[in-house]
This record gives sequence, C-alpha cells and structure tokens, in this order.
Amino acid sequence: MILEKKVAFVTGSTSGIGLAIAHELAKEGAHIALNGFGDAAEIENIRQDIEKRFNVKSIFVPVDVSDFAAMQAAVDKIESELGSLDILVNNAGIQFVAPITEFPIEKWNAVLSVNLTGVFFGIKAALPGMQKRGFGRIINIASAHGLVASQGKAAYVAAKHGVVGLTKVTALENAKQNITCNAICPGWVLTPLVQKQIEDRAKASGRTVEEETTELVSEKQANGRFTTPEEIGALAVYLASDAARGMTGSAVSIDGGWTAE
Ligand code: NAD
Repeated sequence: MILEKKVAFVTGSTSGIGLAIAHELAKEGAHIALNGFGDAAEIENIRQDIEKRFNVKSIFVPVDVSDFAAMQAAVDKIESELGSLDILVNNAGIQFVAPITEFPIEKWNAVLSVNLTGVFFGIKAALPGMQKRGFGRIINIASAHGLVASQGKAAYVAAKHGVVGLTKVTALENAKQNITCNAICPGWVLTPLVQKQIEDRAKASGRTVEEETTELVSEKQANGRFTTPEEIGALAVYLASDAARGMTGSAVSIDGGWTAE
C-alpha cells in the first residue's frame, strides 16, 4: 500500500468528491481526518466504516474551512491524535449561480470565503508542520472552472482561478522542501453540488431532470459522461504518492475533454 502510515486531512469529506478521495487514500493505507457538515450519526458511520474497511485510523474534525482559528485547531488536533499531517486535500466547496447584476454580495463573499480563502487557511495551517517534517503533499480541488469560465458563475470561477494561482505560489515557496502542491481540475461530477444545479435548470426550462442531466454533460464533456468521484480519488492517490514527487504547481484536468476545446 503506497500511502501506509501517512496521515491525510480531506476537507469537505462528508459527501461527494471529498468522501471518495478519503476512501481512495484510506484504501492505500492513509489515516484519515474527515471534515464537513452533515448529520452527526451519518458522519460517525462514515468514520467507523473507514476504520473497519481499510484498517486505518480516522477522526472527524468538524470545522468551517473559512475560519482560520478553527482550521489551525483542526490541524493541531490531527497532528496530536494521528501523529502527523502529510497529505492535505483542500476539497470543501460551495456553488451559487446567478448573473453578475443579480449576484447577491453575501453569496459572492460566501463562495470566495469557502472556495478560495478556505484553501489558503488550510495551507497556512498545515505548512509549518510539513516544513518541520520535510514532507508534504497538498492537493487543491479546483475545477475546469479554474481554467475556463461559464456564465452565471462569477464567484465560483473567480475563486477556482484563484485556487490555481495559489497552488502555483505554494508550489514555488516549498519546492526545495519535499512539499508539492497541485490542483485537480474536474469537469462535471454527479454529486449533491451538481444535482442541485440540474434541478434548478429543470425548474427554469420546464424540461425533465433526466433531459437536463444529458444536456448538462454533453454541453461540456466531449466524452459524454460524468467524471466519477472515484476517478478523482485515484488521481489524488497518485499526486500524494512518491511517484508524483516531481510534479508541483500543476493544474491537472480530469474533465472528459471539456478544456481541450
Ligand atoms: P458536495 O456538495 O457533495 O460536497 C461538498 C463538501 O464540502 C461537503 O462535505 C460539505 O459539508 C463541505 N463543506 C461545504 N462548506 C464547507 C465549509 N465551509 N467548511 C467545511 N466543509 C464544507 O460537493 P462536491 O461536488 O463533492 O464538491 C467538492 C469539491 O469539488 C468542491 O470544491 C467543488 O467546487 C469541486 N468540484 C466539483 C465538481 C462537480 O462537478 N461536482 C466539478 C469540479 C470541481
């Protein structure tokens, strides 16, 4: 197992892509710190399931990534309870869709706080320990929207482009310390975050959810199918592994051809 004895902190891992990344890292032997919102009993089930299925340790750190003091406390807890923090996956994210003229200021602030400032806070809190130990793998879940834009997503696109830039700065500042930082840029992945967008589109167009689902994927992804959370998890495992030690500052697309056009 290529990540044995490593400790990973995956933000936003109570659902969707983050949960699949946590599973794939645990499958390779990493201990897992889970984070995110949701029903306490369901999250406890997820935590226990990871421990039993993969024979690793898992803890839950229920903090909001946009609160620096809380993120610092989460990193301290992970280092003291799991012994280290080797792999940081900044995955927590939210979405809001509206044209700029109708975009509520509080939604702009919320998307920027979670999707961009939250990534900065995670990196800022995790780096001192990684630098002291001389090892770190930071993986930021950006998006195809970190590289190209879509209408209606001003805050999300601005935040994700920001994440790609922040990834490069983090990579440069730590390149000689055995700490890499890369961004993963997924296309459409069918998770609660995207399901809501499909349902909103169906409400607006009067078409069925099935019709909107097909339309949404074929508009952007040349391969005509969703990327799966497990495919993103497998890429995260590779970026966390020794084999990827030469990769840093990259923005890696996994988008079925979306950004090739
Ligand atoms: P999701 O809604 O299924 O999961 C989001 C997770 O983030 C949940 O665990 C939620 O509790 C957590 N979260 C939200 N706000 C938080 C906060 N302030 N602090 C801590 N946790 C918080 O969404 P998803 O589709 O799995 O998205 C995960 C990441 O992947 C996001 O950064 C998203 O932008 C990105 N992404 C998603 C897609 C897609 O098509 N689904 C495509 C590209 C990028």
